Amino acid sequence: MYKYYPIYRLTIMSDYFLKCSKCNSTYAFNIERKLCNKCGQGLWLEVKTTSLDKYDEEQGIWKYGGILPSVRKEFKISLGEGESPLQKSLRIREKTGISDLWIKDETIEPTGSYLDRCSALFVSVVLNMGYEKILTYSTGNLGASIAAYSSRAGIKTHVQVRPTIDLGKLYQMIIYGAEVKVVETFKEKKGIKNTAIAVEYDPLINEAKKTIMLEIFLQLNRRLPDYIILPMGEGGLVYATYNMLKEIRRLNPTVCKTRIVGVQSEGCKPIVNAFEKGLDFVEPEAESKGRIFDVSVPNPKFGIAALRAIRETEGVAVSVNDREIFEAISLLAEKEGILAEPAGSLSIAGLLKLVREEVIDRDSTVVCVVTGSGLKDPKVMKEIAHRKSNLGVLIEELSGDFKLSSTKTAILRLLSEREMYGYQIWKGLREKYGINVKIPTVYQHLNELVEKGYVKKGEARTIMGRRREYYSLTERGEALV
Ligand SMILES: [Zn+2]
Repeated sequence: MYKYYPIYRLTIMSDYFLKCSKCNSTYAFNIERKLCNKCGQGLWLEVKTTSLDKYDEEQGIWKYGGILPSVRKEFKISLGEGESPLQKSLRIREKTGISDLWIKDETIEPTGSYLDRCSALFVSVVLNMGYEKILTYSTGNLGASIAAYSSRAGIKTHVQVRPTIDLGKLYQMIIYGAEVKVVETFKEKKGIKNTAIAVEYDPLINEAKKTIMLEIFLQLNRRLPDYIILPMGEGGLVYATYNMLKEIRRLNPTVCKTRIVGVQSEGCKPIVNAFEKGLDFVEPEAESKGRIFDVSVPNPKFGIAALRAIRETEGVAVSVNDREIFEAISLLAEKEGILAEPAGSLSIAGLLKLVREEVIDRDSTVVCVVTGSGLKDPKVMKEIAHRKSNLGVLIEELSGDFKLSSTKTAILRLLSEREMYGYQIWKGLREKYGINVKIPTVYQHLNELVEKGYVKKGEARTIMGRRREYYSLTERGEALV
């Protein structure tokens, strides 16, 4: 469909340049340049704003063409991203007491993530520049999204992922037709012929994140909220939002000042640590212990920029634990009908914490950005469904993780009454369930249940001269029965 027009490689880049998010060094635009040569931090694409208006005749993010780099009409790729609803919260509002609470629902994007805005821009620009392939290093959502948009553009995509990737995102990449390679660590290559490289901290990728803040401003009838709450990984979304806010306020000096709140998970929170310690740099964490891989970034490339953005807007950086994140996912689904992935629900978890700690006034206008859909992370969905229902056995079987035989189910039921030792279980199976198996078979089932984490073995006790090992259910086992 699209021809290769090498001439645009020379002409397209005149209206923007790269600027370091930390030391302000500037560079001519070059798609291979991702980080600052001098300080190693992320680069920002400086684009001249021509208009904050929405161009209704355009599709997707191109409705906000006035803040984006220019791309020739025939190269603009879109799957209808952007224009996500800004939902006025009705029921979380009641719970928090915040009178004017809004949820920006990015779960409805074409591949279920706010990064679709970014892929639309990235793929269009590289198509305009004449590239034929894209190589992406991704923790998940970016790879899935680039895969979809490059399919649309007829560009081949290779995605490198780590073994910890969320299953739903891996399925997406494969089915969109990307070639997926699993690696332990990313070693970025440069200079591959006709190949554009996309990374999580890419200047072009980050540029399109601005459209969320502009969209919110327009959806609120050219008003800004008192607070905007965002998840933080690399820090790019916080920095993009900050830049957009500055631009909106420059052109509309009377609008209110928005405080930025950045939320990280306890498992990996270098930016929050720097904020709390009052540092003006971000100490990298040795490794991520985070369960939420898409935002667990031990050494964020926009960490310092995000930290400054939060301080300058008099905002807050806050961390939440897994329990608070799971609570937020449940609440968002039950009270507002929005199914978010863990990273996507960080903003709600952060909001609940800051309301509890009375950091946010209840008469403020607050916008929480929910960045990605829950269906991308079947593991977490399963865990939550386990806790919330009594369909444990069915869920285990349908998800194909573990085929529970009737004997194992009966053993779990017996142990849900009280702890037992091997002989008691054997006897219980026979008397209560009519299951006649040999004692070694009972132990084999028990070992398998221990291995799967449903049953635990207690300390051996000697009773009337006989040594006995007692078995009981773990929390996971209890959830199952
Ligand atoms: Zn720099």
